[in-house]
Amino acid sequence: MQPWAVLERVENEPVQTLLVVGAGPKALAVAAKSHVLRSLGLPAPRVVVVEAHAVGGNWLPTGGWTDGQHRLGTSPEKDIGFPYHSTWARGRNREIDRAMSAYSWTSFLIEHGTYAEWIDRGRPSPQHHVWAKYLQWVAKSIDLELVIGRVEQIRHDNRWQVRVVDADGAATELSADGLMITGPGRSSRALAEHPRVLSIATFWDLAGKRSLPAASRAAVIGGGETAGSALDELVRHEMLTISVISPMATIYTRGESYFENSLFSDPVKWNALSIQERRDVIRRTDRGVFSVRVQESLLGDSRVHHLQGRVTKVVPAGDSLALTLTNELRADQVHNFDLVVDATGGQPLWFLEMFDQQTADQLELAVGGPLTQNRIESSIGYDLAVNGLASKLYLPNMAAMAQGPGFPNLSCLGELSDRVLRTVPARSHVSAAQAISR
Ligand SMILES: Cc1cc2nc3c(=O)[nH]c(=O)nc-3n(C[C@H](O)[C@H](O)[C@H](O)COP(=O)(O)OP(=O)(O)OC[C@H]3O[C@@H](n4cnc5c(N)ncnc54)[C@H](O)[C@@H]3O)c2cc1C
Repeated sequence: MQPWAVLERVENEPVQTLLVVGAGPKALAVAAKSHVLRSLGLPAPRVVVVEAHAVGGNWLPTGGWTDGQHRLGTSPEKDIGFPYHSTWARGRNREIDRAMSAYSWTSFLIEHGTYAEWIDRGRPSPQHHVWAKYLQWVAKSIDLELVIGRVEQIRHDNRWQVRVVDADGAATELSADGLMITGPGRSSRALAEHPRVLSIATFWDLAGKRSLPAASRAAVIGGGETAGSALDELVRHEMLTISVISPMATIYTRGESYFENSLFSDPVKWNALSIQERRDVIRRTDRGVFSVRVQESLLGDSRVHHLQGRVTKVVPAGDSLALTLTNELRADQVHNFDLVVDATGGQPLWFLEMFDQQTADQLELAVGGPLTQNRIESSIGYDLAVNGLASKLYLPNMAAMAQGPGFPNLSCLGELSDRVLRTVPARSHVSAAQAISR
């Protein structure tokens, strides 16, 4: 059956509901695409987004992942509609792309009168807080259905039942046909409880207040984007040495050629690659790599070094901390620091803490065994949902290996929204009367 026939068949079916946890770029991409489809008379679910802080919360100082002042590593033109190449609604695709361009990064600049200046300044990457402003502008423009509160419990009982707690502690139960989980989880975890071992949330909180502890030997644990931003901040402070600790042989620079980028923008070739080839691409371009911009700012700084290893022990030693670094082929090494930042990043399975036992059991059954990262990643289908569950659970952050390296990040948000939305309307047979209810 042609995809278009599916659209026509469901056109008169009751509106379905998709609940998204977190109002970041992925939620906005899906909500804006749904808004556009519905305004063009095409079937699309009602999208409701639950957000703990504010739209774009993780790009603001309050989200705990940045102070908002650092810059996006990727181009902002990879916005919520990118790559503007819908392929599934035959005969209407260009119309959808055109309508989506009303919510592009450049439309945002035009609306705010800053487009020419941005071009004349050489199209700089925006600071994180400006990226959050862009997301907030999209939310306002599409009249986003937003519930402010933290999702604390998720249960599956024919539909998804989601318990949301607001800032005053009041709880609400929301119910939806489909559920999409976004974001990296919390940033308040630190390797050890010690005032000189900072979680990334504490690091940014103190950096924002200009009260990072004075230190001469600092270490940042982690080799990804989170560590890159922390280093970008630390090099602005007076320190004798700044060490980056990661298990990799070195800190790689993100591959940014057309050939690498095109795999992120358009994952059409991804399925033809072997698992080993996919791992290679992700290792070379996404995990444990710093963006070209961050590498450039670190290269010229002789205080910055890389130490290979996994930190396996942290022991207070007078005013400093002794970190044991373990490498497979070498004896353990101990290094002393007086400030340590745990920038190992998010926990891929953070959302499982919110699932009740019965829901976790259903997920285990669907993925064929205990809930490991590998097993869940391999179970992600074309629509970015876990294969084999009765109701759709979209996990784009875990879709890199199975579907394409751009889905967990900002590389193909338009393709992400197409994949998610093409299956939602056809999926559920629950009556409209049960649509999101408080
Ligand atoms: C410092 C930093 C810089 C980065 N720079 C880039 C970059 O330049 N390019 C790129 O492609 N990727 C970058 N990334 C990766 C980035 O996280 C993802 O690309 C992208 O933000 C993920 O979007 P998202 O919509 O999944 O989640 P997020 O933007 O992380 O949004 C998740 C939202 O969920 C909310 N939330 C969390 N828990 C709950 C809960 N229980 N209930 C309700 N709401 C909740 C949060 O408040 C947040 O607003 C960066 C990451 C970091 C940490």
